[in-house]
Amino acid sequence: MITIENATVLYGEDLEETKANVLIDDHEIIEVSPRVKKGEIIDARGCVVAPSFINSHVHLGDSVAMDLGDGKPINELIKPPNGLKHRLLTDTPRSVLINSIKKSMWDMIHSGTTTFLDFREGGLGGINLLNEAAKDIPIRKIILGRHESFLNPSEDVGKLKKTVEELLSVSDGIAPSGLGEINDQHAALIVATCKNLGKLSAIHVAEYQEVQKASLNETGKSEVERAIKAGFNILIHLTAPFEDDLELVVENKIPVVTCPRSNGMLAVGIPPIKEMYEAGINLLLGTDNLMFNSPNMLREMEYALKATRGFNKDYFSPKEILKMATVNAANALEMNLGTVYEGKIADMVIIEQKSTDPYLSIINRAETDNIKSLLMEGKIIYNDLPLN
Ligand SMILES: [Zn+2]
Repeated sequence: MITIENATVLYGEDLEETKANVLIDDHEIIEVSPRVKKGEIIDARGCVVAPSFINSHVHLGDSVAMDLGDGKPINELIKPPNGLKHRLLTDTPRSVLINSIKKSMWDMIHSGTTTFLDFREGGLGGINLLNEAAKDIPIRKIILGRHESFLNPSEDVGKLKKTVEELLSVSDGIAPSGLGEINDQHAALIVATCKNLGKLSAIHVAEYQEVQKASLNETGKSEVERAIKAGFNILIHLTAPFEDDLELVVENKIPVVTCPRSNGMLAVGIPPIKEMYEAGINLLLGTDNLMFNSPNMLREMEYALKATRGFNKDYFSPKEILKMATVNAANALEMNLGTVYEGKIADMVIIEQKSTDPYLSIINRAETDNIKSLLMEGKIIYNDLPLN
């Protein structure tokens, strides 16, 4: 058993600021109360205990391509199969790719993340590579695979289904790049195959105006309409929604992962976080491609908050941004974590409190050095606090 004592706890789904101790037994939080004190004691005075972060969208495979091609158009950089990153990844030795991915995973751990959702390219080989890189690294990975045959519009549907099933045997779901690269029939087949096997399906949509316009010209529908019709579980970006898109997302209760720093870096806009939040969409947060961003959720939350306030010239609550990085993601992924609450899996981060506002203390002030302790499934991944 472990007790975290003397901290400010962000308790429950609403991250309510409360003074309490947290008792962990095995992998689970079993009591949050002012009096409880059993087992090993972590003295967390002067700190905030929050759910550890869930990075809901990342491409770890691109860790080898950091900051390359800055300023080039998005198509030239990342569009499969001939974008700069795809050429680079093909030319890089496997051991170099694995080492760069490992480093990124440690960056995530040191910045308070215990779960990530990765869009993995390169078919079975790509998934195996990520699995190999993650071996012995204490982080929870959710891998969504894809295959280059998705890009072939005349691929036989029987063959496509078999490919998807093969990928799903070693992954948690499928994530095609976007609807500019695959047709609607194939998208629907991919999603249906995932659903049959209880797996996830996700896709980039409405990342920028041009892809939305191209979709409308070619099919009479926005990317968002097409993705929802195909039945995807999770949508990434929605930085450039058309007028009816948000309503469709709300009606179909689809979670949206926003990646504001990536959108900023690629000069494609600022995701309408406040508008989506007010519409009732379950919003998540991801750091996206390692090519453009560090996988650091502290930085992502800070940019998300300030870009949203700047974009709307209006207040937006830091607590809601912190929820995007924790509880909202856990709910969208149907995982029993992301909250400091009795019965939840004990994934928690303990961060030095630098101001009287615990939410802004994390989002607006904390550096990785201020992260004092990280727990995953009740195990201490690292700890700089007094432990008795
Ligand atoms: Zn992405």
